[in-house]
Amino acid sequence: MAHELLVLGAGYAGLSAARRAAHHARKSGAGLRVTLVNATDTFVERVRLHEVAAGRADGVVHPLSDSLDPAVDLVVGWVEAFDAEARTAEVRVGDRVRTLRYDTLVYALGSTAAADAVPGAAEHAATLAGLEGAREAARRIAQERPRTLTVVGGGLTGLEAVTEIAEAHAGMDVRLVTSGPVAAGVGAGGRAHVLKVLERLNVSVHEHTRVAAVEADHVKLEDGDLLESDLTVWNAGFGVPPLAADAGLTVDGSGRVLVDGTLRSVSHPDVYAVGDAAHADAVDGRELRMSCAMGLPMGTAAADAVAARLAGREPDATPFGYMNQCVSLGRRDGLIQFVRADDSPGRVVLTGRPAARYKEMIVASAYGGLTGSGQAQAAGYVWLARAVARRFLRRAA
Ligand SMILES: Cc1cc2nc3c(=O)[nH]c(=O)nc-3n(C[C@H](O)[C@H](O)[C@H](O)COP(=O)(O)OP(=O)(O)OC[C@H]3O[C@@H](n4cnc5c(N)ncnc54)[C@H](O)[C@@H]3O)c2cc1C
Repeated sequence: MAHELLVLGAGYAGLSAARRAAHHARKSGAGLRVTLVNATDTFVERVRLHEVAAGRADGVVHPLSDSLDPAVDLVVGWVEAFDAEARTAEVRVGDRVRTLRYDTLVYALGSTAAADAVPGAAEHAATLAGLEGAREAARRIAQERPRTLTVVGGGLTGLEAVTEIAEAHAGMDVRLVTSGPVAAGVGAGGRAHVLKVLERLNVSVHEHTRVAAVEADHVKLEDGDLLESDLTVWNAGFGVPPLAADAGLTVDGSGRVLVDGTLRSVSHPDVYAVGDAAHADAVDGRELRMSCAMGLPMGTAAADAVAARLAGREPDATPFGYMNQCVSLGRRDGLIQFVRADDSPGRVVLTGRPAARYKEMIVASAYGGLTGSGQAQAAGYVWLARAVARRFLRRAA
């Protein structure tokens, strides 16, 4: 009987896992059957959602059929739960619940906005973690014409959001509020460039400032000050769905599935976890940060590990390493911070239009790798991640 591989979630990580597994299924004949479950029959280029919020992007939503091998059975529905002992998943399809059985599960349900972090954020703020939130931000900007807009969160996603919105809506009073320094993970040169761009776009920056609550027309800061804000965009961190924890998998403090070097759950060997929903280690032992840059190779590597074990071989652990941090700063500027494999910033940065083009190329190739002839590209991601990481390991030795 064929081995049933069930992939939950068709974001960057789940889709790359399903595509790679289909490749192995073709090679193994009838030995492996792949089913992919996703909330919709579309793939959302999540890394462009700040563009959607700014009201610019079209073409960020693609039919899954453009990416999927016909060998993959697609189930469009909402995963309500899975039972890691019985090896079944409950999927709501329309008004009925289907039970899907699996031999191996790839858990790739991604992440959500952590908008319950402070009172009022879930109620009043727009979030960019999902398509609906980004569209809601765009709709509110277009219809309500806010005079003041506050982006909360000065990480890379917050920076992309605030610059994109400020550039698209010159004249609006745009602020960035962040609990630490802006662009904390980049080097001094990169940070100087980011601050220069924020100044050029007239974004007022409030560093080392914590938001205590969000109201309809202002944010309340921890020191008690009120900052007028007709529209607040909450971008301070992401959470993950509770399904894995509810199923009894070993998870970290934020609910991400703890996996070994082959992306297999440390508590349930029939389950692999990839992308934002997984807590995997980078080459230096630190937790991989949530990113599509890591989600894509994780999906491919998990499918490879499943196929290897089915063939009776023990797969190698994949040592994931970083190459660069790519940040768009509006449509005409950007920052490419080249990093060491452990993500620490090197001295080299690319800025301005060349950086904007570089970033656009990376974003386009992330989706390109999931369509048509992208199989080789997907394998290339894994090769690149491994090569970079090995270099790091050699240097560190
Ligand atoms: C505005 C923005 C900009 C970003 N920019 C970058 C960037 O420049 N570079 C970078 O590397 N990363 C970037 N990221 C992060 C990147 O988008 C995520 O790390 C990446 O999407 C994670 O991929 P994933 O496959 O794990 O999850 P997701 O892309 O979130 O996919 C999860 C999938 O699971 C589905 N799903 C979830 N729950 C259920 C359920 N219960 N039932 C059925 N289906 C479900 C969802 O519909 C979705 O299709 C950005 C994120 C945002 C929000």
